[in-house]
Amino acid sequence: DTLINQIAAGEVVERPASVVKELVENALDAGARRIDIDLEEGGVRLIRIRDDGAGIPADELPLAISRHATSKIASLDDLEGVATLGFRGEALPSIASVSRFALMSRRQGAEHGASLEVDGGRVGTVAPKPHPQGTTVEVRDLFFNVPARRKFLKAERTELGHIEEWLRQLALARPDVELRVSHNGKPSRRWKGEGELLSDVRLHEALGEEFARNALHVDHFGAVHSTGSGQGLRLHGWIAQPAYNRASADQQYFYVNGRAVRDRSVAHAVKQAYADVLFHGRQPAYVLFLELDPRRVDVNVHPAKHEVRFRDARLIHDFVYRTLQGALAETRAG
Ligand code: ADP
Ligand code: MG
Repeated sequence: DTLINQIAAGEVVERPASVVKELVENALDAGARRIDIDLEEGGVRLIRIRDDGAGIPADELPLAISRHATSKIASLDDLEGVATLGFRGEALPSIASVSRFALMSRRQGAEHGASLEVDGGRVGTVAPKPHPQGTTVEVRDLFFNVPARRKFLKAERTELGHIEEWLRQLALARPDVELRVSHNGKPSRRWKGEGELLSDVRLHEALGEEFARNALHVDHFGAVHSTGSGQGLRLHGWIAQPAYNRASADQQYFYVNGRAVRDRSVAHAVKQAYADVLFHGRQPAYVLFLELDPRRVDVNVHPAKHEVRFRDARLIHDFVYRTLQGALAETRAG
């Protein structure tokens, strides 16, 4: 079983940043309002994520670290409209099989907390442990038992950089959640909880003053014609005006129903709209959110869920292109 989990870890756990992603997404799925992220040595030595979410009942701790045990979907029908970030039930067992792992939690309303340790896949027993409401996951010595993987980890700064980049991507999508980060015992970043809407402050903090000053706000609705179901599309967020263009594609954030994804077709649509108003070769900077009926997009394409598959890919490409082309052309005219 440990071996199977380690093989799965090869797909889900590439580096410390992927562990942070999986654990923070679990915290968000549990309804956390505040998440503390403590790191040592770029996350290689320690990743500790504490949340104030719903918590896990003591007797369900073993289930949480079993393969394909998820509390988030019960049927294939649920998968069609999945609203949580996780649903495959393989992150915790995978991570626990390649680290020294501890899960501590207290369920809302429970009198006591409990903990469960797993050492390189060897599962201990559930023990009582004081814990505030919510969950803490501790991951020490990532890949200590998989030297071939450990060898590929980069310098502390590089691994930390990947984590910070992922947290920035999250901070843009979830301004309602407070994130507190420390590295090697020192506070390194704090994203204050703000409310549902991404403020100029957070935009500025995440992407810099220049971006914020040049950011063009878009909010546009469209229809999925092909179905006739009346289900809509919405594209909102910011695209920087052409004056603020980039040599590289480093500030391109695209989210589908709140999930950060990479999609070639959409990236092409944005770039195309941008190229219409500016010379080719320069990169647009943007933070864009596409919302659509979750049944019209498949998020179960890859274990790490960076990719999605749209039912109406062509239509979405054109919607994104037209929306941004219109918005950018207006600034040029005015
Ligand atoms: P998935 O997120 O795909 O369900 P995971 O392996 O990431 O699978 O987590 C397994 C299960 O453990 C989750 O379905 C959830 O029930 C529970 N769990 C994990 N992390 C947390 C957390 N921070 N708070 C509450 N429950 C959690
Ligand atoms: Mg998960």
